[in-house]
Amino acid sequence: MTRSRAPPSAARGAASGGISPLIRGSSYSTSPLLDTHRSGHHAVVTKFGEDSPGESNTERDRLAQIRRLDRSSLGDAPDDDPPPTRRGPAPAPGIAELVELKAASPDLASAVDLQIELLTIEHRIQARVSLPTLDLDADTVAVALARGLPLLRFEQIPLDWSDVRLAVREIADALRRHDAIDADDYATAQILSHRGHDLESLAAAWYAGPAALARLDAPPPEMLAELIGLALRPSLRRCADAFGRAVDWSSWRRGRCPLCGGEPELATITPDAQRLLICGRCHARWPFHDYACPHCDNADKARITSFASRDGRYRLYGCDGCRRYLKAYDARQGTRPALVHVDSIATLPLDAAALQRGYQA
Ligand SMILES: [Zn+2]
Ligand SMILES: [Zn+2]
Repeated sequence: MTRSRAPPSAARGAASGGISPLIRGSSYSTSPLLDTHRSGHHAVVTKFGEDSPGESNTERDRLAQIRRLDRSSLGDAPDDDPPPTRRGPAPAPGIAELVELKAASPDLASAVDLQIELLTIEHRIQARVSLPTLDLDADTVAVALARGLPLLRFEQIPLDWSDVRLAVREIADALRRHDAIDADDYATAQILSHRGHDLESLAAAWYAGPAALARLDAPPPEMLAELIGLALRPSLRRCADAFGRAVDWSSWRRGRCPLCGGEPELATITPDAQRLLICGRCHARWPFHDYACPHCDNADKARITSFASRDGRYRLYGCDGCRRYLKAYDARQGTRPALVHVDSIATLPLDAAALQRGYQA
């Protein structure tokens, strides 16, 4: 932790998860328009509201085949843990879809392999996280939501620090195996995983947001901030599950998470055409404007460029106001609800297309 101050982009990455280390760390090609045709996620660019080019007969047949496969292998509520089987705990929801994605898109293989390792670690640790204490009364919730204040305080997050340290160590090892972390960051992660106090203060600053991270004497480099976020995610997801069941935040229409204040990592369009944002930190979902930018509230259709995958499952909104973008999974075109761990990898071609056009995550 002897680095100089992190650049602003690192601070923003810390707030949202930003561009995943999987993008930088994987060997994925940055020429999605050429390289991903086979995957069905060939990116096409339209202005908002225009239709994507139609699918050819061959492509339609292939997609129908994939959809049949999806139906036979996917559950209806993939973010809920399935019941354990007699053979032991069930694999994490999303693993089967990641394996299918790898088979359909070999150019995403290295990113998928790393994601499977990270998801497996997250799933195993999440099973041990205790439920958070919900000391909320209706008035407190109503006031917080009306004022735009996130509901979850850092002290309320159920954190077993020995599990967090273990997560830091295991995640750093996985990143190193996939060549997705540099030697300095890996060494710092090792030190953090043995020094509880440093990790606790860093985690608290990460949760408070980019300004708090930037105020530290030695702000962490971007990769380390992302690693902290990954290590806290099992506990944050447990909070999102518990609070989501107990609190009605459907009136919340802001661009940040009502629970933890994180930025959206993904959007999903539901079968009834509502757009929900999904938090990059805790995976909570909340309703948002159909096409406005959650980062700057730009709602001028003419200043929002939309990219879509050819199969229509994925969409990307590039804001010509703040130049940031947001990806979306369109559940009307798919056979399952959004799965952040899967859809964030399936849309790597869209990330590359957006970055090439000058947008930022
Ligand atoms: Zn959140
Ligand atoms: Zn914007």
